[in-house]
Amino acid sequence: MNLLLSLLLLVSTFSSSLAKGAFQSLLPSEDFGDRSNGFLAWAISIGKSVNGVPLWVIEISDKPGEEETEPAFKASFGYIGNVHGDEPVGRELLIFLANWLCDNYLKDPLATLIVENVHLHLLPSMNPDGYTLGKRGNANNIDLNRDFPDQFFLANDDEESRQPETRAIMNWLRDIRFTASATLHGGALVANYPWDGTRDKRWTFYYGCPDDEAFRFMSSIYSHSHYNMSSSKEFIDGITNGAAWYPLYGGMQDWNYIHAGCFELTLEISDNKWPTASELPILWKYNKMSMLNLVASLVKTGVHGRIYSSGDGRPLPGFITVSGINYTVRAGKTFGDYHRLLGPRDRYEVVATMPGYKSKNTSIWLDEGAMTLDFVLDPEVSVKLKGEYFFLILLDKANVLILLTK
Ligand SMILES: [Zn+2]
Repeated sequence: MNLLLSLLLLVSTFSSSLAKGAFQSLLPSEDFGDRSNGFLAWAISIGKSVNGVPLWVIEISDKPGEEETEPAFKASFGYIGNVHGDEPVGRELLIFLANWLCDNYLKDPLATLIVENVHLHLLPSMNPDGYTLGKRGNANNIDLNRDFPDQFFLANDDEESRQPETRAIMNWLRDIRFTASATLHGGALVANYPWDGTRDKRWTFYYGCPDDEAFRFMSSIYSHSHYNMSSSKEFIDGITNGAAWYPLYGGMQDWNYIHAGCFELTLEISDNKWPTASELPILWKYNKMSMLNLVASLVKTGVHGRIYSSGDGRPLPGFITVSGINYTVRAGKTFGDYHRLLGPRDRYEVVATMPGYKSKNTSIWLDEGAMTLDFVLDPEVSVKLKGEYFFLILLDKANVLILLTK
């Protein structure tokens, strides 16, 4: 893998498209190639837009592209910019962020913490065609933040009829196992969290998801780290439930939480959708600590750990639930590692389960810091055997016949 070549390709893509808009290129290619050192960052394309423009993702980590579990907190975070073509501030700030992290690794403690403890994926532009055309939708005039399958509009469920940009995101989210992500928008100043829609579909009201508390906590990290988001006159604390602001259907935020196990925020980072290029440094200054602290919250908050089998010590791809919260986090297939975001609270009961094993639960107290919690589960051999037979009978009679002949 030629990392430098990939980065140069990425940069030339941005430079050429940026030149058509009002913004200057903020990323001289040789510069970023040098700073990346070939190991702090790499770039891959996760798909193409309607007009065939690659959707480039920069991954920043001390081990980009590797699945790893040491340290145990190594979770993945994604930032997605320019979902709406006419909201380009996010794509620019993500390039600022990439440069800043590469420049400050081993110099700044926060940069070092993020690079060493997080796989940070940056997709500066989900909608390069819309950007080039200077409009909200993609080249087919579809609003990509209304194009995802929706829990309340099942007719939207056909994945094949999604736009190529939407399909690319869905596949990417399934592939990487993100713990959290955020999309960057413009036109307001607020951190927005699920749900975006309501079952009712008629009224505007607060419609919280099972992890409302954790989402409010995450949103507050962004708004309070921002220059002036938390002092908003329109939104208390600079945060809002999506449906309480205005309900929308087919958004990325709800889909990510439901289908990808990914806690996603929708961040409105600039009142002015398309400011002049000269205003970008100040917008970066206003959003910089928010963007960094939100990523670092993966390391600094929540419960993280691994699930093992007591029988042979192997990692188990089990499930983590928290009593009273109707949401399940899956542990990874390779290392059995899990990352469960939670707001600070006196007591949580965390439960680890795995088919064929006895479940275990532990009560924890979670303050502003993170906690490591490993589970060692005991096999339930007899139940496992019964379970297999029962499952096969239900699944396929032919399989049972094969099993009996063994
Ligand atoms: Zn937008």
